[in-house]
Amino acid sequence: MELQFKENYELGYRYFRRVLECLRAHHEFFRSAIPLVASENVPSPAVREALASDFGNRYAEGYPGERLYAGCRWIDEVELMGVELAKKVFDAPFADLRPISGVVANLAAYTALAEPGDVMVALAVPHGGHISHGKRSWNGTAGRVRGLEVVRYEFDYERFNIDVDGTRRRLEKEGGLRPKIFMLGASVFLFPHPVREVAELASEYGAAVVYDAAHVAGLIAGGVFQKPLAEGADVMTMSTHKTLAGPQHGMVVSNEKYAEPLKNVMFPPLHSNHHLHAVAGVTIALAEALAFYHQYARDIVRNAKAIAEALHEEGLSPLYEELGYTESHIVLIDVSKFMGGRDAEVKLEEAGIVLNRNLIPKDYELKTDYRNPSGIRIGVQEVTRLGMGPSEMKEIARFIARVVVRGEDPKRIRQEVAEFRKDYNKVHYAFSNLTEAYQYIEIR
Ligand SMILES: *Cc1c(COP(=O)(O)O)cnc(C)c1O
Repeated sequence: MELQFKENYELGYRYFRRVLECLRAHHEFFRSAIPLVASENVPSPAVREALASDFGNRYAEGYPGERLYAGCRWIDEVELMGVELAKKVFDAPFADLRPISGVVANLAAYTALAEPGDVMVALAVPHGGHISHGKRSWNGTAGRVRGLEVVRYEFDYERFNIDVDGTRRRLEKEGGLRPKIFMLGASVFLFPHPVREVAELASEYGAAVVYDAAHVAGLIAGGVFQKPLAEGADVMTMSTHKTLAGPQHGMVVSNEKYAEPLKNVMFPPLHSNHHLHAVAGVTIALAEALAFYHQYARDIVRNAKAIAEALHEEGLSPLYEELGYTESHIVLIDVSKFMGGRDAEVKLEEAGIVLNRNLIPKDYELKTDYRNPSGIRIGVQEVTRLGMGPSEMKEIARFIARVVVRGEDPKRIRQEVAEFRKDYNKVHYAFSNLTEAYQYIEIR
């Protein structure tokens, strides 16, 4: 028996040590890499402090001020500030900070606004839609979890956007379909969606318009891209950790009409605890958005256009040149002249450049295997937050071209990438940055 205890202690200790080593190695990698994944960001040290706080060990069921738990005095105060800030930043009559992720925020909207069997119109995943908008046969959240019947928008590849007239015609032709929700927003989101036109179409069916701002919430907070609620969306869901650089969490804002139904699905159906440390982090991120995103959002879009331009000059093929490449943080690049998207992703990671492979429009005609598509997707929100501007975008474009266009050995470039990154280890657009962006914080 004694021996068993000793062995288990030693085994447990080995795992304990290895987990901590992995955490440290991860920090070391990101401290010396170029992070270009479009769905990620680096939060401010203040947000990281909130995540390490005791808020994360507590419960506060219910809307703030209507709690069913004791010990919530400061938790309530913080969450109420978060609600006030969210309403101000997104110019919305109602906000709820309880969804613990973007997917759960969408599930809350589906639950509040529709019943199983109802029809939802959404972008297909290959057109940039998110799996949480997906139909049952794709194992998407809307179809598989909420039981919605998802039909897709007609899509215009030339403009990389929703074809509203085509969608209207198809709904009329197919007859009998009475959509309850028109979903907007995407994971590959280059240009603003036609919210007004879709809201008009939705009104013909008495349907609600939900705008998924997971990717572009920070841009919207900063007053660029578009204003979905003012343009006719009823509900806006989001993740709080992409262009809005908070902790991983979710949020919904809406007009008054949907406030009660949304509140009622957050608790009890969808959450018991709602990750209060993250709520504090989101509240800090919203305060930063109020103070700094006017500038941050503009700098992101400027950098996205700059890196697209620079990639083009380096011989790569960023898409939609004739439309100015992008109006968001994302650039979509065809790499098929040189290699597949998967190879590009793997080689670039070896060089310390982190981004994702992505399907691009021509893949739909070519029926390319989604595991090795023709493109890559980059987002510049994180490097912008590290203080980089258009001249750094040129340097990054050159690194990418050396790997993808000129076929240089990624291992040789890795050192130069680390060297380049040395000057950019502080988080900008934040009230304080005493701690480096990827500094590993030891408290044990
Ligand atoms: C990332 C994303 C989500 C999901 O976000 P999580 O916070 O990871 O759950 C939802 N919708 C869209 C469009 C996204 O890109």
